[in-house]
Amino acid sequence: MSSMSDKPEKLITDDGLRLDGRRADEIRPMKIEIGVLSRADGSCYLEWGKNKVLVGVFGPREVHPRRTQRADTAVIRYKYNMASFSVEDRARPGPSRRSIEISKVSREAFEPVIMSELFPKTAIDIFVEVLQADAGTRTAAINASSVALADAGIPMKGLITSCAFGKVDGQIVLDLNKEEDNYGEADFPVAMTQDGEITLLQMDGHLTPEEINKGLELVRKGCKEILEIQQAVLRKKFETPVEETAEEASETEDIENKVVETEASFEYSPEAAAIEDSLEGAEELEGAEELEEELTEESSETSAVTEETPEYEELEEIIKEAEAVVEEDSLEEAIEQEIEEEEGEEALEEEAEFEASFEAAPEPEEFEKLEPGKEESVSGEEEEEKEEEEVMSESQDSAGEEIQLEEETGIEEVASEETIEPEQEIESKAITGKEVPAEEIVKTEEKPEEERCEGPWKVVKDPSESGSRGENE
Ligand code: UDP
Repeated sequence: MSSMSDKPEKLITDDGLRLDGRRADEIRPMKIEIGVLSRADGSCYLEWGKNKVLVGVFGPREVHPRRTQRADTAVIRYKYNMASFSVEDRARPGPSRRSIEISKVSREAFEPVIMSELFPKTAIDIFVEVLQADAGTRTAAINASSVALADAGIPMKGLITSCAFGKVDGQIVLDLNKEEDNYGEADFPVAMTQDGEITLLQMDGHLTPEEINKGLELVRKGCKEILEIQQAVLRKKFETPVEETAEEASETEDIENKVVETEASFEYSPEAAAIEDSLEGAEELEGAEELEEELTEESSETSAVTEETPEYEELEEIIKEAEAVVEEDSLEEAIEQEIEEEEGEEALEEEAEFEASFEAAPEPEEFEKLEPGKEESVSGEEEEEKEEEEVMSESQDSAGEEIQLEEETGIEEVASEETIEPEQEIESKAITGKEVPAEEIVKTEEKPEEERCEGPWKVVKDPSESGSRGENE
């Protein structure tokens, strides 16, 4: 983190604009890509301002180690990780107090909407990699995770959307950037369901109840905009109509249909286009008329131009070529199948790896070692000044170490979270360990009863009630 002397004189200029040109109620531009990882069940790459995060979702899948599974429900595991190159002063690899905290509150932000009870004895794993950080990475990661979970087909009562507000130069503003986060007076990340039920709420800094109310209003506006982006990207992927031709091709072994299946290549392959034209022209060929119907407008136009009917031998030649094209299809199928098989094997290996990475996650003892209440310093500490090489191999080492530690002590991990008291301590710190008393924050909420004593989230109502906002649009 930069020193205070770098603080700009003003974070909000006289015309009311912020240093990046936004107004107080504007979020940074967001871009979402879905399904970017072929080995994950669901994935998402998200850019939000200068933040870049990648999320992979795996599961529901077998739980390792077995004793962490739950008979009645799936366990959700969320792992937030910052690439060492994602920040200005190089982040120390491996879990930190901060990443453990973010992982925990983010998992809890999703627990109310993921229908875990449908998948007992399984795990749903969410892996977040922050590639570039510019404040608001936890909110960015939650937005991306929501899309990745949907991409993985995990049943949810609705999407989760997340955005922070803060106080900068005495003003309440939406979605802080790095400078505003560094030099502002407060940062208040929130996550919510589609119905606006809050599932994550943290606060860092000084705010009055009035300011919190105002900020929450901004956050709701921001979350609505983000939800629209999330929904748009999901619609784009899942609402694309299945092409009729592909469906019919699978029903019949007709060569004509198979040729149609390769239709996409017509645009690029002149040979294929010639085949198409020829088949078009040859009335005597079985199924030629059906084929005509199948052709896209574009290719029909092309064939209309070619009036000439080729000689019969030529046609035979062309059909042979067409068969060769068709054979490529079955080849493709074979390759696909092979890939699937491979993926099965890889999944096993992967599982072992991920398992190890989860075991590297905090043990209760680890937490005790950490000093709760003391904010993790992001500037280079002495102990962080290790040799580059040493640090690079560190995450692996520590994974091994902790597996051992765990075996020795036989401590049950994450599954029985009630027993992990230090974690709860951190959580309450996040909410109550600040200037404004917890009751005051709660009072400002719209539905105080439900939120009190519930931790940073509350349970969504009837599943049938959720999702209304998205569906209405
Ligand atoms: N940051 C950093 N080094 C760290 C942790 C954070 O430079 O080790 C920066 C990073 O840009 C991050 C910002 O500080 O986005 C704010 O961090 P915070 O803990 O508030 O979480 P975030 O806002 O990213 O959810």
